[in-house]
Parts: sequence; C-alpha cells; structure tokens
Amino acid sequence: MSKIAEVIVDIATSSTDKIFDYNLIDNVTVGSRVMVPFGNRKIEGYVINIKDFSNYPEDKIKNILYPIDDFVAINNEMLNLMWYMQRNYHIRLVDGLRLFIPAEMRAGKVKSKYKKIIYLNCDFETAITKIKKNATSQKDILIYLNNFGKAEYTQICNKFNNSAVNKLLDEKLIKCKSVENKRQPYTFIKDKKVESFTLKESQRSAVEKILSAKTFKTFLLHGVTGSGKTEVYIQCISECLKENKTSIMLVPEISLTPQMLERLRSRFEDKVAILHSGLSAGEKFDEWLRIKRGEAKVVIGARSAIFAPVENLGLIIIDEEHEQSYISENNPRYSAHDIAEFRAKYNDAILVKGSATPSIESYNKAKSGEYELLTMNERINKKPLPEIEIVNMCEEFIAGNKSAFSRSLLSAIDDCIKEGNQAMLFINRRGFSSFLMCRSCGFIAKCDDCDVSLVYHKEDNTLKCHYCGNRYTSFTKCPKCGSESIRLGSAGTEKIVNDLKELYPNIKVLRMDNDTTRTKESHFKILSDFKNKNAQILVGTQMIAKGHDFPDVTLVGIIDADLSLYQTDFRSNERTFQLITQVAGRAGRDKKPGKVILQTYAPRHYVYRFALNYDYLGFFAKELNIRQVTKFPPFTEIIRILIRDDDEQLVLNTTKEITLKLRQFMENDDIKDKFAYFQAMKSPVKKINGKIRYQILMRIKDHSLIEKIYEIIDSVNVKCELFVEINPQNLT
Ligand code: ADP
Ligand code: ZN
Ligand code: ZN
Repeated sequence: MSKIAEVIVDIATSSTDKIFDYNLIDNVTVGSRVMVPFGNRKIEGYVINIKDFSNYPEDKIKNILYPIDDFVAINNEMLNLMWYMQRNYHIRLVDGLRLFIPAEMRAGKVKSKYKKIIYLNCDFETAITKIKKNATSQKDILIYLNNFGKAEYTQICNKFNNSAVNKLLDEKLIKCKSVENKRQPYTFIKDKKVESFTLKESQRSAVEKILSAKTFKTFLLHGVTGSGKTEVYIQCISECLKENKTSIMLVPEISLTPQMLERLRSRFEDKVAILHSGLSAGEKFDEWLRIKRGEAKVVIGARSAIFAPVENLGLIIIDEEHEQSYISENNPRYSAHDIAEFRAKYNDAILVKGSATPSIESYNKAKSGEYELLTMNERINKKPLPEIEIVNMCEEFIAGNKSAFSRSLLSAIDDCIKEGNQAMLFINRRGFSSFLMCRSCGFIAKCDDCDVSLVYHKEDNTLKCHYCGNRYTSFTKCPKCGSESIRLGSAGTEKIVNDLKELYPNIKVLRMDNDTTRTKESHFKILSDFKNKNAQILVGTQMIAKGHDFPDVTLVGIIDADLSLYQTDFRSNERTFQLITQVAGRAGRDKKPGKVILQTYAPRHYVYRFALNYDYLGFFAKELNIRQVTKFPPFTEIIRILIRDDDEQLVLNTTKEITLKLRQFMENDDIKDKFAYFQAMKSPVKKINGKIRYQILMRIKDHSLIEKIYEIIDSVNVKCELFVEINPQNLT
C-alpha cells in the first residue's frame, strides 16, 4: 500500500490552510513542491510530512500528480520554522512556506535560464570534407567554431544563417548543448580588489570572542560609527568559510551600497549571493538556487534573506540591528531577529548583532547577560566623532529668519563649499510640503481612501498620499471656498533642494529619497555621483543616514530633528537618538574633521542632550527608566490585533466580539495583573486604502498569555482581515 503525503496547498485563505492527505508517488519526499488535484483544479502544494496511514477512507484519497522541481525546495529546518512561525505569529502555514522560496518560483513564473552552445562534433578537417562545395555559410561556421572552440547558438544563427546551422546539426557535424545561463546581479559593480586590513586590537579581540563560541550564542557588538564593525563581520564570515560553514549577513535595505558589495565580492568572490528587493525575478531565483545548491556560502541581503536556503549555517550577522526594517509590517508579519535566533539555535550557530546605537531591548539583554556584549569605542582612524552644534530654531524665528536654514547652517554650508568639501543635509520627509492648507477656511487636502493629509510634490505638481500612493492634481485656489491664499506645511526634501538651488545657483545638489530612487540602479547612481564629487550637497531622507563612507563630507545638517520626536510612539525618543547618531557619523570620516548642525525647537530635550555627547549609555539608562515607569518594552510586550475591512460595521462587530471574550478572560485577577494595558479603539490612522481599521492594543507582562490570546481569536468567526502584531514598530 502506498504511503500518504501530508500536503499544504498554495492558496492563502484560512479555510484551505489545513493539511490534506494524498497518495505519495515516486520522486516526492518531505519538503517537495508538488502538483495536486484540488476540487476540480490542479494546484501547487508542499509536502510537509509522510505517514503510513490516513484517517480518510482510501478511495477518497487522490494521488499527487507530479513533483514540480527536481530538488527538494523546503528542508527540515524550514518546516520546523514554519511551525514556529505559526505558533508565535498566528500566521497561516502557507504564508510561512511562501517566505522560504522566491515568490516567482511559485506558479512556475521563473525557471533557470538556459542558453544553447554549439561545438564541433568531429575534427575540423573531417567536417569540411563532408559538406557540399558551394555551402559557404556552413563552411564559415565550421571555420568560426574551429577558431573559437564554441559559440552561442542564437549568435551563430544571427551571424551566419539558421538553416546552415541546423543543417550542420542534422548532419551531426556540430553538436549543441544546453547550459544554465546565470543572471548575475549587480554586474555594474566592478570586481575591484579591495585591500584587506590587519585588524586593530579592538577588532581582533571581538573576532576572537565571537569565534570562541562553540554552540549557539548571541553577541551584541556595540561599536561607534567608523569603529570597523564591518571588518569584524567579514573576518568572522571568512573563518566560518574555512570550516565550510555558511553565513547570512543582514543589512538594512539602504545599506546595500556599492561599497559594501565591492568589499564582499572582493573578499568572497562568487561565494557571495545577494538577495535584495531590487533584483529582477530571474536574478533572485538564480541567486536563491546558487545558495540552495551550496555554490554560494555567504548570503548578504535585507530582511527576507534570513530565509535563505543555506545548509550548515555557522553564523548570522544582523548589522544596524536597531533598524525597523528588520520587522515586516506586511503580511505575514515577522521579526528577522526572531527568525535569526531560531535558525542560529537550530544550527548551533553564532548570532552577532551590531550597531552604534543598539535597540533598548537588545542592550538590555546584553546587560542582563543574555547576549555577550562587545564594545568598540574608537573610530579606526582615531578621529574624534564630529562635534554636534544644536541650533534653537525658536530663536531663529524670533530673529526674523523664517527659512528652513538657520544662520549657523548657512554659514557652515558657505564654508564647506568654499573649502571644496561636501555636505549632507538630512530631512526625514519627502516631497515639497507636508500639506496644503487654505488660510481662509482651513481646508486641508486629504486622501479619499486614507485618513491622512496629502503631501504636495512640486516637481510633478501633484498631491500624493504617502500611505496608498494615490495622486491628485494640486490646486492654487481652495477647492472649498475659492480663496487663493494657500499655506504650505513643513518642508520636505524637494523644498530643501529647491531652496538650495536659489541660494547657491552654481552648486550641484543631489536628492535621494523614495521619489528619486524608483528604478533599480538609481540609488547606486546617486551615491556614486556624490562619491565622485559630481555634486557638493546631498539632500536626503533616512536613506542617506547609514553606511555610506564619503571622505570629503565635512558637514552634516539635520534640518528638522524633531520630526521623529513627536510621533505618538514609545520608540520616538530612541529613534531620534539613533537617527542623529547615524547621520552625524557620516561627517569627518576621513582626514578632515567633521561638523554636525542639528536644528530643533526643543533644544533642551534629553534626547539631544545625550546625542550631543554621543552618550549612548546615558541615554540608555534614562530611556530604560522611563520604559519601566510607563510599562513599555522591554518590561512588557505590546500586542496589537489589527482588524480591517471596507465594511465598518463588520470591523466594529468583530472588534467588539474579540474584546468581549478577552475581557472575560481577564476577569480572573491573576490574569488581569498580567496585563499592563488593554484598550480597543480605532487605529490612529482610521482608514488606509479604503479599509477601515480598528485595533485592540494590549501590553502584557507574561509572554505565555499569547497562546491563550490566539485561542480566543480563533474561537471567533472572523470574516474580515485580522493581523496580530507583537511589539510592532509602527502603531499607525
Ligand atoms: P563601521 O561599520 O563600524 O561603521 P567600518 O567597518 O565601515 O566601520 O570601518 C570604517 C572605516 O575603516 C572603513 O573605511 C574601513 O575600510 C576602515 N577600516 C576598517 N578596519 C580597518 C583596519 N583594521 N585598518 C584600517 N582601516 C580599517
Ligand atoms: Zn478655503
Ligand atoms: Zn491614500
């Protein structure tokens, strides 16, 4: 009797997220992707287990049709990870599985690319005697192949002619082979030799400690910007390779700079695979397959690279570990930190998290001994960190300066330009103005589908919704009352560039934000233009804050430091501190000293006081204390249940029903004490993309409550979208 395969079908609905039994066929094993009959359709599925018996009657069980790939797509580790993610994040099994393979592989959208190569099939002299005297094309082809050894089929067809090539093939005078044609990403990055350094003492000691871990262990590498953390990572990866172990290095999307890639390529050559959202579907698939086959042993990429199909994992690195981008806010919601920890434990591997400004949570773990703390206090070049000058913008206003630039900043830009140096100006808002408002009636343009005001983009004269991407035509007359007196909101990148061009008509200014980096390579182009000094000023959003190493940048201006400070989010202080430290770290990296000018309306805020002195430890102590008093992470865990649908009534009813059940659960005093906060309400942004959003927000003191909360959610028949988020990065 045949064995039974347990299959998860590739349909993302709750009703199909079950395990279905099929009869096993040859060449299929646990982890195979298979085609199965489902109702009257054929769909793709994943074999997650094989067993001897089914509880269903034998005649009801259908056969698997065929295996989809000629390799096993999902290994045991990933199957375990799938269950882990379901337990912890309350997500569908199929949503977990989908993360493990390139999206384009599903439904057969990409395959390996092949090219046909032709060769002589016998020696040249023999071949020549076998063709007709007047067959000149055939003769030319044979001569060509004799000279070059081989050629691509299509090229030869174009160069000579199809029928001549095919005739030679028919006569078996030449032969044709299919070989895989790898799409290699980032070929525009030259394979440059980048020198490797002798490690400094601080680096050597960090590397030694990291490599001395023989079983799973997490390190927190706290090193100031420019202290040489990347070199520590590279050294550890290189040691792992010597033991034939693989490594994954996660970086924030925006840190995948040409410099970083050059450094890794030069060190690890074709053993590096890059996973990045900027790759084409084909490139992603080819990189994935190289990893899967063990050809690439070092994986570098953004968040989702944590799912890279490496075997024999020895090391995971999370660079800039405090970055929000490691937490997915789309479905399925997950934290790359959790996944990294799972995989490192599963493989008995080492986990290294590095940052100049670790998250409060991570640093707290290092202090409590859960992570081992490694500290690098000095920049490699022993240069002091750049001096930060705080400018009180209230005083500027009182003095009659209403522009976005303080007098200090302007004179610093003047000096910087005169000396032939470069400046970076940071403002974490794109567009021209944060809103348009009528001075007569107070009308503010809002998105039809979202509960937010629209941002004015001057270059294409539109109003854009930064939540759903909707565009509206802009106006110079109020659409409500007809008044022509329109007020602009706060300046964004576009306005800053605009103003600079008026102030310095002869200076080249570059802008880097989401609007100027839409195409795959634009991002790299802007950075290399700046690096090559084709421009003297670079204006940008947080995209310019990290990783970049420009030796001639001597001035960094933070136009509106308060932007991240007044968000209704318990992490806003932490984020502001991190951003300032990161941005400031761009100045004075080489021989010339750097200077930072920070503009704020709240110069005495403690965040600025600590940032001014690069006092991470002082900031950490203060912030931790506030978190303890106000009962926020790491002292509690935040759980948000987000419920959304077009139909407000449905959302409201669902929210009420779950709230009621949760409240019943909390009736017991013991349980109630484990909740630090519980509230059901509209989300701060009540509508996005036409969907009404409600949320149940909780702060719990005991992680084990999560299981019960999931049970309660499952006991309700939910007919709208529902997501659970644990310690979400964004509470809009
Ligand atoms: P971090 O990641 O901590 O900001 P990096 O690893 O980028 O720092 O190093 C800062 C600079 O110092 C880089 O330009 C790097 O090439 C250089 N560097 C790193 N390690 C050494 C070393 N041991 N000797 C000389 N230069 C080094
Ligand atoms: Zn009006
Ligand atoms: Zn919108």
